[in-house]
Amino acid sequence: MLDPKRIEKFRVKPGTKIRLKDHNPAWQPEGKNAQEDVERMMAEDLEMLNTAQGKLYASDQWSILVVLQAMDAAGKDGLVKHVMAGLNPQGCTVHSFKAPSAEELDHSFLWRCMKAAPARGQITIFNRSHYEEVLVVKVHPEILHKQKLPTKLVSKAIWKERYEDINNFEQHLARNGTKIIKIFLNVSKEEQKQRFLERLDTPEKNWKFSLGDLTERRYWDAYMRAYDEMLEATSTKHAPWFIIPADHKFVARAAVAEILAKTILEVATDYPTVGSEAKLALAEARTKLLSE
Ligand code: ATP
Ligand code: MG
Repeated sequence: MLDPKRIEKFRVKPGTKIRLKDHNPAWQPEGKNAQEDVERMMAEDLEMLNTAQGKLYASDQWSILVVLQAMDAAGKDGLVKHVMAGLNPQGCTVHSFKAPSAEELDHSFLWRCMKAAPARGQITIFNRSHYEEVLVVKVHPEILHKQKLPTKLVSKAIWKERYEDINNFEQHLARNGTKIIKIFLNVSKEEQKQRFLERLDTPEKNWKFSLGDLTERRYWDAYMRAYDEMLEATSTKHAPWFIIPADHKFVARAAVAEILAKTILEVATDYPTVGSEAKLALAEARTKLLSE
């Protein structure tokens, strides 16, 4: 396990001012063998996560929604792959949100998110999410103008209104048994450059590179401002944001595995117990089987 106090430091307390500039994307634990130590802890956390998922699935009451947001090449895909490895595939889904389809644009922006929200007993990861509506759409206002909203309803207040709608949507899910964890993978602009170069220089990674990513990189500062405002406005008690240092992939993966496992164990404390009547029925079934 990583230091729980450190993990708590990643959590955005509701109402605090956020400036990503003050958060170090390259943070890692001190010590010569930091990476080895963290990877060992990660293996333990994955075991804890496996047990936690078993209990969550069996009790079929609570559900878990992990919202994953980040700049390109921050490691979202790798994180999903590593953290979900070893889990029961019947109990998890990953939903990747792309630019909305024509049908989706004909509905409110939360429509597609509600449809993808987790069923009881399930873990769902949103790889990008409803937060794109206050990130990419805010950075590129021309997207907003193509959303077919009645002109009268589009004012300067729209971002504040969207934060409110998002908070209410998440509260609604929380009140119905969904635990929400929101992860922002905080990668530095320099590390993004290195990872893009690696995608260009390694033939097996060429497919991951898209020219569009380079265009978005030009808007880095605007994205950081949008993230600052969004993190500040939407980290709540029932759906907290965690700002996870992501320049070192092993740190990000271990931190998320631990946050996820602990959150699940808060609600799925044990396997469902069987009442005395059901126990009798089980005993009868056993006798029947043995007497075959
Ligand atoms: P990767 O590039 O690692 O495969 P990705 O999440 O970047 O993963 P892409 O298909 O490259 O996947 O990008 C999806 C794009 O869809 C992103 O540029 C994102 O900003 C955009 N997108 C997602 N939701 C919305 C939205 N509501 N409105 C407009 N654009 C959106
Ligand atoms: Mg991409």
